[in-house]
Amino acid sequence: MKVLRTPGEMHDLREWFRDQPETVGLVPTMGYLHEGHNSLLKAAREENGFVVMSLFVNPTQFKAGEDLSTYPRDEERDLVIAESSGVDFIYAPAPDDIYPSGFATKVEVEGLTEVLCGSETSRGPGHFAGVTTIVAKLLNAVDPDVAYFGQKDAQQATVIRRMAEDLEFRTRIVILPTVRERDGLAMSSRNAYLSPESRERATAIWSSLLETESVFAEQGLDAALDAGRRHLELAGITPEYFEARYPGTLDPADGNGTDPVLVAVAANVDGTRLIDNILIEPSSTHRRTK
Ligand code: AMP
Repeated sequence: MKVLRTPGEMHDLREWFRDQPETVGLVPTMGYLHEGHNSLLKAAREENGFVVMSLFVNPTQFKAGEDLSTYPRDEERDLVIAESSGVDFIYAPAPDDIYPSGFATKVEVEGLTEVLCGSETSRGPGHFAGVTTIVAKLLNAVDPDVAYFGQKDAQQATVIRRMAEDLEFRTRIVILPTVRERDGLAMSSRNAYLSPESRERATAIWSSLLETESVFAEQGLDAALDAGRRHLELAGITPEYFEARYPGTLDPADGNGTDPVLVAVAANVDGTRLIDNILIEPSSTHRRTK
C-alpha cells in the first residue's frame, strides 16, 4: 500500500491509472475507520483492480463551533486497517494543499442541501457545500470509475448523486447499507465521544426508527413519526429533526403512495451529534386501509 501526500502525487497516479486496463474504486473517508468504512472498502476491493482510500478531515464542512479540532484521528491505526482491507493507495493530503491560499471555488447543490442537516437550525447549507466541493476535488484528482458512500449519510448520498449527475462526472456513485453495532447503533467515528451511559442512551435512535417503521404499517406516517419522536423523548433525547422525506428529492413525504419513505433523524446525545435513517417501504396493508 502506498501513501500519497500531495495532489501532485495523486495526479501522477491518475495519469498512470489511465494507461491501465483495470478499474479504479475510490472510498472517501475522514478516517478513524470502523466497520462502516470497511464495508465500503470491501466492496471497492471486490469490484475493482485498484482501490484508493482518501483520508482527509475536510475543514470546510465543519461550521464554527463544531468538532473540527477534536474530530477523532488515528492515522497510524487507519493505515493498518486500510492495508488489511486491501487498499492499494491512500490519498492523505494536507489541508493547505487542498485549500491553498487564493482558493475561491465552491461547488454547491441547491435545494437538497437546505433541509434536514442543511437547514439553518442544523449544520446549515454550508456543510454540504464543503462536502460537494471536496468530493468534486477528489473525483477530479483520482478520476475513479466508481466511488463508494454510505447510506448512513443519506442526505449526503442524495446530494453527491445530484452533483455527479449535474457536473457530468464519469464516476459511478454507489451507496451501500448502514453498518450497525449489535444493538443497532449506526457505526460512526463520533461514537468514540460517547460515555458508557450516553452510548446506552444512543441506542434509542435506531429503536425509534424501528418503532416508526412498525407504526407506519398499521397507522400511517403521521402517527408513526409521533411514535418515533415519543420513543426518543422517553430516552431523554430531543431530536434536532425527525422527518419523513422522499429519498431522491428530499421533498416532505406524506407516505400515501407506493414510494419508499426516508425517515431521517439527527440528535445531540449528551454533546455528541449523531444521525441515522431508515428507508420504509409502504406496505400493501397500509395502502389498503387508506
Ligand atoms: P466519514 O469518514 O464519516 O466521512 O465516512 C466516510 C464514508 O463512510 C461516508 O460515505 C459515510 O457515509 C460512510 N459511512 C460512515 N459510517 C457508516 C456506516 N455505519 N455504515 C456504512 N457507511 C458508513
